Amino acid sequence: MPPASLSLSVMPFPPEVRREAMVRSARHCCVCHRYKGVRVEVHHIVPEADGGPNIPDNAIVLCFDCHADAGHYNPRQPRGTKFSPQELRDAKEKWFSIVREGSLTSPETTPDVLYYRYLICRNLDIVAEILAGNFDHIPVEQPLLVQNDSSSFLGRLVDDVGRTSQTDVFNGGWFANRDEYLQAHPDASAVDRGGGNFSFYELLRVPTHEELLAKWSPGRPLIKRLIDSGAQPEDFSIVGSFFQQCGTGHFQEDLVLRPLWGVFLAVTNISDSPQTLKRLEAAGSPNKDFRPFQPLSDPPTELRLPAAPILSGATVVVPLGAVLGPLGRIEEEIWSRTDTDLKRWGPVQLVAHSGTKQAKAHALVGPFLWPKGLHVTSSGSNIYQEVHELDLTNVYMLDRYWEAGCCPHLFFLLEGAEVVYGGPLLAAGNSKNVISTFTVPMGVTRLLIAELEDEVTRLDHIWLDDQQNTPGRTLTRGQVLQLAVSPGVIVRIEGSYVPRVESSDGSENSSRRAMLVDEFIHSRTRSLHFSS
Ligand SMILES: [Zn+2]
Repeated sequence: MPPASLSLSVMPFPPEVRREAMVRSARHCCVCHRYKGVRVEVHHIVPEADGGPNIPDNAIVLCFDCHADAGHYNPRQPRGTKFSPQELRDAKEKWFSIVREGSLTSPETTPDVLYYRYLICRNLDIVAEILAGNFDHIPVEQPLLVQNDSSSFLGRLVDDVGRTSQTDVFNGGWFANRDEYLQAHPDASAVDRGGGNFSFYELLRVPTHEELLAKWSPGRPLIKRLIDSGAQPEDFSIVGSFFQQCGTGHFQEDLVLRPLWGVFLAVTNISDSPQTLKRLEAAGSPNKDFRPFQPLSDPPTELRLPAAPILSGATVVVPLGAVLGPLGRIEEEIWSRTDTDLKRWGPVQLVAHSGTKQAKAHALVGPFLWPKGLHVTSSGSNIYQEVHELDLTNVYMLDRYWEAGCCPHLFFLLEGAEVVYGGPLLAAGNSKNVISTFTVPMGVTRLLIAELEDEVTRLDHIWLDDQQNTPGRTLTRGQVLQLAVSPGVIVRIEGSYVPRVESSDGSENSSRRAMLVDEFIHSRTRSLHFSS
């Protein structure tokens, strides 16, 4: 059984609350008043993260568009068209009264017996576990796995790509320093370190076809597969390089690939009685937001399902296929999330109801099953319940990763409130005291020392020129120390850091670190922009 906390964010409202909200709103969006049928979601007016309860009063029916707009409302950082809880409550009451007054009848004749969620697995271990029928760490109750062509395809793909390469980043060799690297790769260009994407790297370049095949593809058949299917290197890859201070100190390059995601449909019986699924009808062609890298031959138009009755509360998991996520930081709106610390074996697991904003950037890697609806035998009669299309703006993301576990990070706040990456700090200070020294660059007004990972940083002494400043600070994950400084000042910081979990191998760390650094810059730039 998965820990109880795993289930919370994934099926937050009890079925009777969902049902009541759907009926009272007649499956229309309470904000834009459009009838959206299956493309609606029951949303928390006050987010779960802020203590919003799973009761009817806190539930509102929204279409996927308005759902994305309602996400993450923060009164301290008003931005765009986000709706406040009060606005949502008002919209809901107004719409309920329109429906109540009978000026509109519910197009819904039978209540839903099934609840559909698309599960996006960003980690291939999770895909492999699901395919093996191991749901110990997957947040679905009473799971039943369907075997189909997609499960065979996903199984082969995971075997090919290799479960150990958990990430989309591959270490491509060491150079003594940046100059030596630039001699080998004169086409590499400097990264805008405040750009919010790839800020972690110093230099970036696009690899060539030949290089991808000769240098990077051995042992990684996905690369050859993508090239053979006509994908251009810039469609799916980039090479970033940086000075790796952790360890011996060298200039290192990484190949960054678009991440490979496994996609499943979870079908939950939310009725009070057993239901027999008969077959799934499929569209036979990709949704408009997805671009196949290779022509798809005969996509399936239906899937026969095992005729066994599915108990109330149980979930049938249908493998659909694989997509490539965006290159670099994923622009994501998260409505609810659960971080689960799988301490017994190290990695952190994240389950989030969320949506990516780069939905149209997604590419198909192989055959895919596009669900349209399910034929069900319910209390003796046959019914058909439509499935909403796969829409990456509204999915459930499952991710699992190792903490990178490498030192706190330094950022510079510039005049004009821009934040740029300054590099790792106390890099050699894993569990021992070291001193980092640097000169404050031009235009910098403040230092931000951030602990982005699950570890503890101790800053014992900070000197600005020869003046001691702010002694004895401890930073844990998410904490940031800000120091006002002037350009030209020599900063000396003495301290150490202690990772809570030692990561298993170093190869994947820069990917995770790059993501954390980009996230930090992005969030800081946004919050500074709106608080000033
Ligand atoms: Zn709407």
